[in-house]
Amino acid sequence: MENRVSICGVGFDRVTAKEAKNRLFRALSGKKPPLSLYTPNPEIVELACRDPELSRILNEAGLSVADGVGVIRAARMLGDPLPERIPGVELGEAMLAFCAEDGEALPVFFLGGKPGIAEKAAERMREKYPGLSVAGTADGYFDEAKSPEVAGRVASSGAVLLFVCLGAPKQEKWIAAHRAKMPGVRVFAALGGSLDVYAGALRRAPRIFCRFGLEWLWRVIRQPSRIRRLFAVPAFLRRVRREKRRQKRGD
Ligand code: UDP
Repeated sequence: MENRVSICGVGFDRVTAKEAKNRLFRALSGKKPPLSLYTPNPEIVELACRDPELSRILNEAGLSVADGVGVIRAARMLGDPLPERIPGVELGEAMLAFCAEDGEALPVFFLGGKPGIAEKAAERMREKYPGLSVAGTADGYFDEAKSPEVAGRVASSGAVLLFVCLGAPKQEKWIAAHRAKMPGVRVFAALGGSLDVYAGALRRAPRIFCRFGLEWLWRVIRQPSRIRRLFAVPAFLRRVRREKRRQKRGD
């Protein structure tokens, strides 16, 4: 797609945060067709290189943005820079604020996180955005066999915005497999740990970390189990360099 930057075969929209929000708001208000929002990181791009189905799913996103510095750097290395880093958690919150302006017409559903997280997120977000209507919540630890039932609950709740926070790539695959069962949903937002942040269970990195592109370091300090994810970054950068060399040769 013309307005997309391809990083190792995965497309990212060339949009600013403001443009991304406007696209989401238009979809939420029904002025544009429903869409799914993905924020692939280097680990997911690496996985997509070995998983054509995941690559196809990611490229079917209605909106795909770079949440982390790894992807921003890769786009710059390839000579096709993206306008800016767009934190998914902020896009999610902007959508909640938008939906709260007309709560009855724009209900939301929180799916994902450990038991209790989605409810807590709903409680805190209702306090912060008083008009917000939360049509339902469900935790993210259910058997695949239960998925049709979960999708049915979302569909009958009347939600137009669905947060799917199951971790990547589970959440993207879940949306692709089940979105047809939820025809009333206008935005499927695959936003990883956002519900943990809204619930107050996970603190976002202090601004200083973000300013220096070190949000990943903050996350590893807080959740040391995430360190294994960083192992994907050198392989990702090697792949980007190879792509750059191919570009130069004009292959
Ligand atoms: N999660 C979930 N179901 C699962 C696995 C994870 O609901 O089967 C939730 C987890 O509790 C967390 C969120 O998904 O709230 C994001 O998980 P993680 O940090 O692993 O994902 P990422 O940062 O890659 O999006």
